[in-house]
Amino acid sequence: MTIAIIGAGFAGLAAAYYLSENFQVTLFDLKGIGGGASGISSGLLHPYPGEKGRRSWHAEEGLKATRELLKVAEEELGRPVANYEGILKIGQCLDPGEDVEVLSSDHFLIKSGITVFPELYLKGLWQACQKRGVKLVLQKIDALQDLTEFDQVIIAAGAGIRNFPECDHLKINFVKGQVLTCTLEKPLERSVSAKRYFALTPSEKICHLGATYERDFTNDLPCRETAIVLLQPETEVLDCRAGIRVTNPAHYFPILQQISAKIRAITALGSRGLLYHAYMGKQIALELNTQKNLV
Ligand SMILES: Cc1cc2nc3c(=O)[nH]c(=O)nc-3n(C[C@H](O)[C@H](O)[C@H](O)COP(=O)(O)OP(=O)(O)OC[C@H]3O[C@@H](n4cnc5c(N)ncnc54)[C@H](O)[C@@H]3O)c2cc1C
Repeated sequence: MTIAIIGAGFAGLAAAYYLSENFQVTLFDLKGIGGGASGISSGLLHPYPGEKGRRSWHAEEGLKATRELLKVAEEELGRPVANYEGILKIGQCLDPGEDVEVLSSDHFLIKSGITVFPELYLKGLWQACQKRGVKLVLQKIDALQDLTEFDQVIIAAGAGIRNFPECDHLKINFVKGQVLTCTLEKPLERSVSAKRYFALTPSEKICHLGATYERDFTNDLPCRETAIVLLQPETEVLDCRAGIRVTNPAHYFPILQQISAKIRAITALGSRGLLYHAYMGKQIALELNTQKNLV
């Protein structure tokens, strides 16, 4: 079976990694690896997003699957691609699991929290995919008819899903997010997440400050002035980047949907791309392996 995957972000690469165990996989991306939201994400991975500190849907499975892929990337690069010191969250935790240490009524330490360094992670994961024979074609797919030669097509196009009328029925929303790269006066021990977050980077001297949730955006481009107003940086701003989150307005759940006999979509990873992409990739591989065994 030959499989085309549209999009080489977290979702597309995870699916490519698991599917390439048994199938011939080609990734199509107009920009290259991490050209969408994954490449600019701040790397925060933990199961307590939102203000209420409620544990996410399928948190255990999501964390386990992502840890597995982090290990794959680390073995490829021979170095860590993340910081494993946990994440400090400012806010109440309504639903603390065993992985939480409540420090006060409005502070808790998520011991399972990981700050992924997306550039390194994507690089390592892509290397592992290449070893399994995955090919990358730098091309914009304008219509699914361009891919009729493939047995299966997976749309993992992030906000690019807007291009495909086959997915119009999916109830999804688009929210712009911006992140500022700022200098640090002293190194952070771990990432801190509150209404705005400070995320570690591979350099002790800089952090990512985010995130904004801009619902009425008119374009996908970064706007430093708006980001500064919304994020109130206290140190020097070195860079500003923007991306679009695809969200499921009904729930904070990702969507893995079979559109037709040969088309599937992975979407609505929202702000939890790192928690869900590997789990979704595994699920899709499971579905197609089962289908193969039934034929
Ligand atoms: C500012 C910001 C900060 C974030 N921080 C975090 C965080 O700390 N932790 C976290 O878990 N999540 C975070 N997220 C969310 C996370 O980035 C997303 O959930 C995740 O990246 C989505 O992955 P994806 O693979 O679905 O999409 P994307 O990463 O957007 O990948 C889609 C790919 O498809 C390609 N593409 C699109 N259309 C086409 C086409 N027609 N033909 C060919 N290629 C196409 C694009 O070039 C792109 O590379 C953040 C998001 C934003 C915007």
